[in-house]
Amino acid sequence: MKRVLLLGGTGDALTIARRLGPDHVYSLAGLGRIPGDLFCSVRVGGFGGIDGLKAFIEAQSISLIVDATHPYAAQMSRHASAVSALKSMPCWALRRAPWQPQSGDAWREAADFSSILDAIAPYHHPLWTLGREPLSHLDEIAPSQHWTIRCLDSHPGNARATIIAARGPFSLDGERALFDAQQTDVLISKNSGGAATEAKLAVARERGLPVVMLQRPGLPPVEREFSDTSSLLNALEAWLHPHPLFDKTP
Ligand code: NAP
Repeated sequence: MKRVLLLGGTGDALTIARRLGPDHVYSLAGLGRIPGDLFCSVRVGGFGGIDGLKAFIEAQSISLIVDATHPYAAQMSRHASAVSALKSMPCWALRRAPWQPQSGDAWREAADFSSILDAIAPYHHPLWTLGREPLSHLDEIAPSQHWTIRCLDSHPGNARATIIAARGPFSLDGERALFDAQQTDVLISKNSGGAATEAKLAVARERGLPVVMLQRPGLPPVEREFSDTSSLLNALEAWLHPHPLFDKTP
């Protein structure tokens, strides 16, 4: 029996998971919502590094890893690639294309958190859409700034920070209203790619606002790479149920 381990954490991964039958396993870090309506089995939480992932794959007789993690979840991707090499088993990855700047965009790339802080220093109302990382810097907010931090979890914030717990997809009108309400003058974003969280970039563009884009991490090589869920699902279908071209003699 061929058994797939799907590493998830994105909407695209959930789309793939919805097509997997009960022989297969969908794995989540546990940061977001855990779907309860899938046919495949769902496991939640870290494996315990490379050794833990290898042990899981052996115990569950996994024959293919499909890495559909977020483009910034580089550690999980590195572990998947390392275990695939150790076990001489295939690892495929869904690698969503990054957003590209368009005419009117004022994007600046930042390599790390401290470069982001430098880039936003001249502004007063940054809107953070990086996830929870800024929450550990609430005591470092410049007196001239009020941060808005949008992330998955609610958090108390403080006098200089408003925390908004929200999950995409986000609409253009919703993003416009958020920028208005928070008087956003600079946007901080990952270059996640995809449509679900792209509207904020359109709002920054139409208002001529700068965007500080956290650079994507380097990702390891994999046996097969796909840029969209449908091509990955087609390949998966063919791998799980290969049909010979000629199954009858004339
Ligand atoms: P990471 O740094 O690649 O992963 C850290 C550890 O989390 C992994 O080593 C693994 O623990 C566990 N992990 C991650 N994905 C897993 C999965 N699908 N199944 C089981 N365990 C998993 O990624 P991260 O810390 O989760 O996130 C890094 C960046 O990606 C952040 O900026 C975050 O906002 C963004 N992001 C992540 C997710 C997500 O679901 N992971 C979703 C959206 C955005 P062990 O080493 O113990 O196996």
